[in-house]
Amino acid sequence: MLNIVLFGPPGAGKGTQSEKLMAEYQLDHISTGDLFRKHLSEGTELGQKAQEYMDEGFLVPDEVVIGMVEDKIQSEPNSNGFIFDGFPRTVKQAEALDRLLNANNTPICCMIALEVPFEELKKRLLERGKISGRADDQSEDKINNRIQVYLDETLPVSEFYKTQSKFNGVNGVGTIDTIFEKICAVIESFK
Ligand code: ADP
Repeated sequence: MLNIVLFGPPGAGKGTQSEKLMAEYQLDHISTGDLFRKHLSEGTELGQKAQEYMDEGFLVPDEVVIGMVEDKIQSEPNSNGFIFDGFPRTVKQAEALDRLLNANNTPICCMIALEVPFEELKKRLLERGKISGRADDQSEDKINNRIQVYLDETLPVSEFYKTQSKFNGVNGVGTIDTIFEKICAVIESFK
C-alpha cells in the first residue's frame, strides 16, 4: 500500500497534484476539505458542525476530522493506498493517523510538502475565490487568517514527519507538470 501525505499551505496546489497522483498510482484521494464541503452541501450534522469553522478559516476540531477520515479509510478496504490532502493539519491528527495506519500495518510512506511563497498563495486564493464561490476564499482577511492558522497549527506537522525521516520539500512554483515530475521522483525513491 502506498500512503502519501501531500502537505502545504492553502493554495499550494495539493488538489491539482492529487488528481494526477491518483491517476498515476491508482490511489484513493482523501481531501478533508472536499469531504467537509460534501457534508455541507448535503446538509449533514457533521457539515453543520464544520461550517462555522470553515467559513472563517479556522480548523474544525480534531476529533471531528479524525472520525471522518477513519470512516473514509474503512470505506475503501481494497485500496492500493491513499493520498492524504489537507490532513493531517495538526500534530494530534498526525498522531491519530499513525495509530490508525500502524494498526493495519500500512504506515505513511512519505510526506511531500509543496512550498510556495505567501504572496503567491494570496494571489492564487483570491483568483480561485472568483470562480469557486468558497466563503473562505472571498477576502484578504480570511485568507490571512488561514495562512496564520497554517503557520501556528499546521507547520509543526512537518517536524513530526521530519523526525520520522519522511519529510520532502518540493518547490510548488512552476508548471503543473514539472512539479508533478518532482513529486513522482520523491515517491519513486520511497517505493
Ligand atoms: P485549503 O484550500 O485552504 O487548503 P481545504 O479545502 O483543505 O483548504 O479546507 C477548507 C477548510 O476545511 C479549512 O480551512 C478548515 O476549516 C477545514 N479543514 C479541512 N481539513 C481540515 C483538517 N484536517 N483539520 C481541521 N480542519 C480542516
